[in-house]
Amino acid sequence: MAEWKKDLPLIHEVTSQKEAFWINPMYESQSESTTLTCEDAMDAEARLARFAPYIAKVFPETAGANGLIESPLLTIPKMQRSLEQLYQFELQGRLLLKCDSHLPISGSIKARGGIYEVLKYAEELALKNDMISEDDDYSLLAEQRFQDFFSRYSIAVGSTGNLGLSIGIMGAKLGFNVYVHMSSDAKRWKKDLLREKGVTVVEHAADFSKAVAQGRKQADQDPTMYFVDDESSKHLFLGYSVAAFRLKKQLEEMNIQVNEDNPLFVYLPCGVGGGPGGVTFGLKQVFKNHVHCFFAEPTHSPCMLLGLMTGLHDQVSVQDFGLDNRTEADGLAVGRPSGFVGKLLEKDISGIYTVEDEKLFALLTILADTEGISLEPSALAGFPGMMHILKSAMGKDFINKFQLNSKLKNATHIVWGTGGSMVPGSERKNYYERGKSIGK
Ligand SMILES: *Cc1c(COP(=O)(O)O)cnc(C)c1O
Repeated sequence: MAEWKKDLPLIHEVTSQKEAFWINPMYESQSESTTLTCEDAMDAEARLARFAPYIAKVFPETAGANGLIESPLLTIPKMQRSLEQLYQFELQGRLLLKCDSHLPISGSIKARGGIYEVLKYAEELALKNDMISEDDDYSLLAEQRFQDFFSRYSIAVGSTGNLGLSIGIMGAKLGFNVYVHMSSDAKRWKKDLLREKGVTVVEHAADFSKAVAQGRKQADQDPTMYFVDDESSKHLFLGYSVAAFRLKKQLEEMNIQVNEDNPLFVYLPCGVGGGPGGVTFGLKQVFKNHVHCFFAEPTHSPCMLLGLMTGLHDQVSVQDFGLDNRTEADGLAVGRPSGFVGKLLEKDISGIYTVEDEKLFALLTILADTEGISLEPSALAGFPGMMHILKSAMGKDFINKFQLNSKLKNATHIVWGTGGSMVPGSERKNYYERGKSIGK
C-alpha cells in the first residue's frame, strides 16, 4: 500500500471512497488491437442479423424493428439544463441518452452481450448437428423440434442481476435448461421473474464467487453444459460491440456528425468491464480517435480503475485496497475487473471516474422529473462525466492535450443508460423517493 501511495497520487482518494477522476496516461488516440478485430465485431453483427427473423417471431415486441434488439438514442435538453445548474457549468454541444434501459427482451445492456452469447451457442449446436445452415431463415428455430433438441443441453451463468435475466430469458425461450447462480441477497423480483420463465435459480448464501467457480467447474466436466463467463467471455464482449454500428446509423439519422471537428464523448457505467469495454471496442473501430470513452464506477467498487491504474488488472480486487464493494448500483457491484477487457483496452479507455451511490439516486430523480425516463441506479453513473472533463484541472489538461478546446461547441456527449425498464413499479418508486429526499 505504501508503495502505491507514492506512485499513484490518486490512490488515496480512491481508497478513502472519495469521488475521483482519472485520466488514463496510457491512452493513445489511435491504438490498434491485435487480439480482436473489426471483422470479429462485424461477424457478431451478421450473426444477430441471421437470428433477427427468429427474434421477431418469438419476441413480438421486436417485430417493428424486424427482430433487431436495439434501443432509442434520445436528446434530453431538459436534463442538460438541470445538469448545468447542478454542476454550475456550461455544457456546450449536445447531450444524448442511449436508452439501453429500454432494450427489448431484458431491459438492460446485457440484452446485447448475454443474448448474443446464447444465440451463438445455439447456432453452433444446430449447425454441428445439421439442423440448420447459415442461409436458412432462422425463424424455423421457433419450431418445437428445436426446443426438444436444445432441451438436451444446459447453460449456466453466475450473476446477481441483469446478465442472469438476459441469459435466462433467451436460453429458456430456445428450450435450453438454464441455471442462474445468484447470491441469496439478489433482488427477489429477479429470481421470481426467472423462475416464471422456467429458469432454475440456484441461490448461494455464502461466498458467491466460490459458487460461480463451482458452476464453471461443473460445466467444464459436462459436455452438454455451457458456462457463460462474465469475466472473460469474448462472445459477450463482441455482442456488446455491435452497439457501435447501430449507434453510427442512429447518429446519421439525427444528422449528427462525428469527425475531426465534431468529437464524440461517451460515458459508460462499468462493472466487470465487458459491457462498456465491448461498446468502447466497437466505437473505436467505427469512430477511431474522434471518440473518447470514459468509464464510471461506484466509489465502493472501482475495480477497473484499480486494475488499470496499477497495471495489475484482474490480479487486484477492491478488497485488496480495503474497499468493501458494497453499492446499491447492482450492475456495478464488482470487486475484480475482467483482465481480458482491461488488457485489451488499456490504451483505448480515455479515463475513469467514480460516483457515490447517493449521487446516482439524486440523478435518477432529476432524470425522471425532467425527462420522464426511469433508469436503475447503475445506469445514472454516466451523467457526472462531462462535469469532470469540462470542469476539473485533469479534464482541462485532457482537452488541451488532444486539442479539443475549439471543438467542444460541436461535441456530442452520450450517456449510456444501461438499464432500468425491468424494475418493478414499487421498487422504482423507492428509488425515486430516495433520490428526492437527497435533493432536499
Ligand atoms: C452489467 C451492467 C453494467 C456494466 O457491465 P459490465 O459488463 O459488468 O461492466 C452497467 N449497468 C448495468 C445496468 C448493468 O446491468
